[in-house]
Amino acid sequence: MARYTDASCRQCRRIGEKLFLKGERCYSPRCAIERRRRTPGDRIPRRRRSSDWALQLREKQKARFTYGVLERQFRNYFEMARERPGITGDILLQLLESRLDNVVYRLSFADSRKQARQLVNHGHFRVNDRRMDIPSYLIQPGDVITWKSVNGSVPEYVQLLTEGLPKRPVPSWLRLDVGALTGEVASFPETTEIDTGIDARLIVEFYSK
Ligand code: SF4
Repeated sequence: MARYTDASCRQCRRIGEKLFLKGERCYSPRCAIERRRRTPGDRIPRRRRSSDWALQLREKQKARFTYGVLERQFRNYFEMARERPGITGDILLQLLESRLDNVVYRLSFADSRKQARQLVNHGHFRVNDRRMDIPSYLIQPGDVITWKSVNGSVPEYVQLLTEGLPKRPVPSWLRLDVGALTGEVASFPETTEIDTGIDARLIVEFYSK
C-alpha cells in the first residue's frame, strides 16, 4: 500500500504550521516548528505574498498531510464529495474524518494518525466484531470499534497503550467506553466538530479550476 515516507516534521515546516503528526513530540519544545519556522530549503526568510492559487494549494496539501492521504486518493475523496448532495467542502472533511485510522486516533487509541494507521494495518481492530485492517475504511453511525482480543481479553500492550484514557478530548460524534476499551460512532461529524483548521472552501476552489 502506498504511503508517505517524507519526514512528518518536514511536512509541517512546508505548510508553516503545526499539523500534530507525531503525537507527544508535537506538544513538546522538541517540535521542529517551535525550533525552526522556516520552510525546508529556505536559508534566508523571505516575505512573499501568496497568490490565491498558492493559498488553495497549501490548504489542499495541509489536508492531505494531516490525514496522511496521497494525491490520487485525496482527489477520489473530492469526487465522492462532489457527487453527494450538500456542501462539497463539508462533505470532503466529513469523509476524511470518517476514515477508520482517524477514528482510532480520535478515540485516543493512538498518539497520532500515523500510529493509528499502523495499528489498523496490523489488524489490531475490529469493526462491529469483524476484523478490519483497512485504514481508509469509512465508518458509519452505529459502528463499534474494538481492540482485537486474545483468548477473550485485551493484550497487555493494549492496556499500556491505552493507559490514562482519554488522552485528548473525544469529539461528541464518538463515544468512548474507557472500561471496555471500545468506541462507538454516534453520528457523522459536523464541520464545527472538526478541529483541524482546514478551510475546505479553498480546496474546492483549487479543484474547480
Ligand atoms: Fe509537526 Fe509534530 Fe513535528 Fe511539530 S513535532 S513539526 S507538530 S510533526
